[in-house]
Amino acid sequence: MTHPLNPVFADRPVTIFQVMTTLANEHEAINLGQGFPDEDGPQEILEAAAREIVKGPNQYAPVMGVPALRQAVARANKRFYGLDIDWRTQTLVTSGATEALAAAFLAFLKPGDEAILFAPFYDSYAPMVEAAGAKVVALSLAPPSWRIDEAMLNAAITPRTRVIAMNSPHNPTGHVVAVDELQMIARAAIKHDLLVICDEVYEHLIFDGRRHTPLMTLPGMRERAIRIGSAGKTFSLTGWRVGYVTGTERLITGVMKAHQYIAYTTLGHLQTAVATGLDKGDDYYRDFVAVMQEKRDLMREGLLGAGFDVQPCEGTYFMTVDIRAVGFNGDDMAFCRDITEKAKVAAVPVSAFYHPASKDVARHYARFCFCKKRPVIEEAARRLKAYFG
Ligand code: PMP
Repeated sequence: MTHPLNPVFADRPVTIFQVMTTLANEHEAINLGQGFPDEDGPQEILEAAAREIVKGPNQYAPVMGVPALRQAVARANKRFYGLDIDWRTQTLVTSGATEALAAAFLAFLKPGDEAILFAPFYDSYAPMVEAAGAKVVALSLAPPSWRIDEAMLNAAITPRTRVIAMNSPHNPTGHVVAVDELQMIARAAIKHDLLVICDEVYEHLIFDGRRHTPLMTLPGMRERAIRIGSAGKTFSLTGWRVGYVTGTERLITGVMKAHQYIAYTTLGHLQTAVATGLDKGDDYYRDFVAVMQEKRDLMREGLLGAGFDVQPCEGTYFMTVDIRAVGFNGDDMAFCRDITEKAKVAAVPVSAFYHPASKDVARHYARFCFCKKRPVIEEAARRLKAYFG
């Protein structure tokens, strides 16, 4: 059989999350590798979805999404960020943020274009840029600050640059992109007439009283940025695959035209249920952050206790550690395999989030996910301490 497959996908390995989850299961390790909560989101949202399925209909939902959810997305934009969004033309529901990202890259890029990605980046970005026939221009952010460097950004822009993709709060580093960094992106986008794909799936997971600032709220950015959110993250329902995109009519129509050929529609019952979630009172959002912040602090304490150099975590449910502090003699991939097999705790290597050519920028960081029940975090910390202590 010699039918060559598309190297964009065929030449890539299975994702690091799949690799580490398989290894974790094989070794009966606590899986702090893949990022998923071990408790499902609010009972009312689950019940609303179940009722909708039984009630029906169970046929295609509208391509743009169920009006109830799109209206809720527009209301949430106003409530949290003061953005005036017309739900009819400026919102789109997708099958998870992953599909929104895919549709956005395919909609905004054509063969020969370039897209700037800040590494470490979520692993779906690069293959989708390349599937569009465009080139990834990866700018490596360096630990421990992970900040954007304006000179480096400007130097990377060419006449072929069309898109910048950014993510804040940031997976895997837990960094919240600061307002002055957002301004650097805005200046570059305006000067060079670029579109910006803003991956804001952790918009409601931001700690220590900070508030999320969408790039779209900066002057001049409304017409050139889209924001992507995820019910999976905001309501701890990662299996539901419900994402939403906000932007101008022109950009949303463009993304919709890719979405109509990828997922076509997203399960309507789940959309209706997520709408009730987005409209939840401030107490839901407050408690969600408060509980996660407690888990962050517990994880931090545990990792410090095991001897790690723990990096600050301003948002998301991920925490990165410098593995050199525990005297580990090897790279981050070897480290993650080692602790999964021997300490029975799985993490993911941060180098997996870099472009292959620049993995060496961060070869000694591992990411632990802390959206787990307290006893699970405590047990993971105990195992790591026993192993490295
Ligand atoms: N972007 C980032 C930064 C993520 O961490 C994730 C999920 N891990 C996604 C996008 C995809 O979100 P979803 O599950 O809604 O597809």
